[in-house]
Amino acid sequence: MKFKPADNIQDLQYFGEYGGVNPSISDSSTYTFLAAKSMADTFEGNSEGCYLYSRHSSPSNLYLGEALAAMEGTETANVSASGMGAITPTLMQLCNAGDHIVSARTIYGGTYAFLKNFLPKFNVSNTFVDITSLDKVEAAINDNTKVIYCESVSNPLLEVADIRGLAQLANKYNLKLVVDNTFSPLNISPTTLGADVVIHSLTKFINGSSDTVGGVICGTQEFINELRNVNDGACMLLGPVMDSLRAASVLKNLRTLHIRIKKHSENALYLAQKFELDGINIGYPGLRSHKQHELFKSMYNEEYGFGGMLAIDVGSLDKANEFMELMQNRNLGYLAVSLGFYKTLFNAPGTGTSSEIPEEEQTEMGLSDGLIRFSIGLDNDIERTYQEMKKCMIELNIL
Ligand code: PLP
Repeated sequence: MKFKPADNIQDLQYFGEYGGVNPSISDSSTYTFLAAKSMADTFEGNSEGCYLYSRHSSPSNLYLGEALAAMEGTETANVSASGMGAITPTLMQLCNAGDHIVSARTIYGGTYAFLKNFLPKFNVSNTFVDITSLDKVEAAINDNTKVIYCESVSNPLLEVADIRGLAQLANKYNLKLVVDNTFSPLNISPTTLGADVVIHSLTKFINGSSDTVGGVICGTQEFINELRNVNDGACMLLGPVMDSLRAASVLKNLRTLHIRIKKHSENALYLAQKFELDGINIGYPGLRSHKQHELFKSMYNEEYGFGGMLAIDVGSLDKANEFMELMQNRNLGYLAVSLGFYKTLFNAPGTGTSSEIPEEEQTEMGLSDGLIRFSIGLDNDIERTYQEMKKCMIELNIL
């Protein structure tokens, strides 16, 4: 049967303990055992269905984890307190001192900083590469490489990774392919293309209401068990645990993700096509002019489109700032980092979400000062939004 991520979520049947249509929220940090022996077994990881302590796992977190695993087509998943709380334990679990990671250079600034400044403290090294060149990725692999790391659609430049090609390289050299799919939930299903581990910042589209941070690691049962191991599991020992109340609220929001993603994609494609015709320098994977348009199409789940993120270059930081302030004043969106909200969000990544990346490296990767990253909202009348944005552009001589 064809992999249908949203249907897989829908197919899960969770009742609350009193028959509620939502599962009950677990409100305990610790759990009782009827027999002392079961506690010892649980510590050793042998006791299916028993809860020990909520940093390890909790019913609410498991419900959310299983829904996300169903969406990504993995055996299971572990939810975490933030996207970074999913990325950092994954890489620390997969690597030992002396190991090496090949990573896309155009990734979220926090991940970039973690790889560049933090992991070397533990003698885990890293090579940043242009992920769109499989030759460059292969050339960067050495005897110590353990992981290839990328984002399906990169932050903020919207480069698209060839997940199939990267998975082939990972197989050839016996590496793990870890894909951050935050920008393209439902649009792209990395494990169907060969990824080993899929990560999300739930903070973005998946939760969709900009009211919490959260993350998830989707993978094999074996890997998730390793992460949760009480003796050497990075999730268990570093402790980036999500609170049960939050897990329950993210699960409720997840149920409308398919509708929201379709609308985000529809609106983003509409604006991208219009602005391109107006002559604006715009990057959107749904446009034929996007370098990886065909690649995206070869990987995507068509009904969800090309996603809600687009990038416009208005030439200079001053212009970008003026434009963003004017759009905010006209209530066309918010000048804010993050993404996946009902309202359009925009920021200039060079000075914002990618400021961890040094200026000369930003230039090398094509991240210009005048770039504005948009997370397109769920506007009901996108033609009206287009007209209003266009007026702002004309007023500021961008058009
Ligand atoms: N991955 C991507 C692609 C992101 O954009 C972000 C945050 O902006 C993260 C990971 C980190 O997620 P969080 O802020 O939930 O820790």
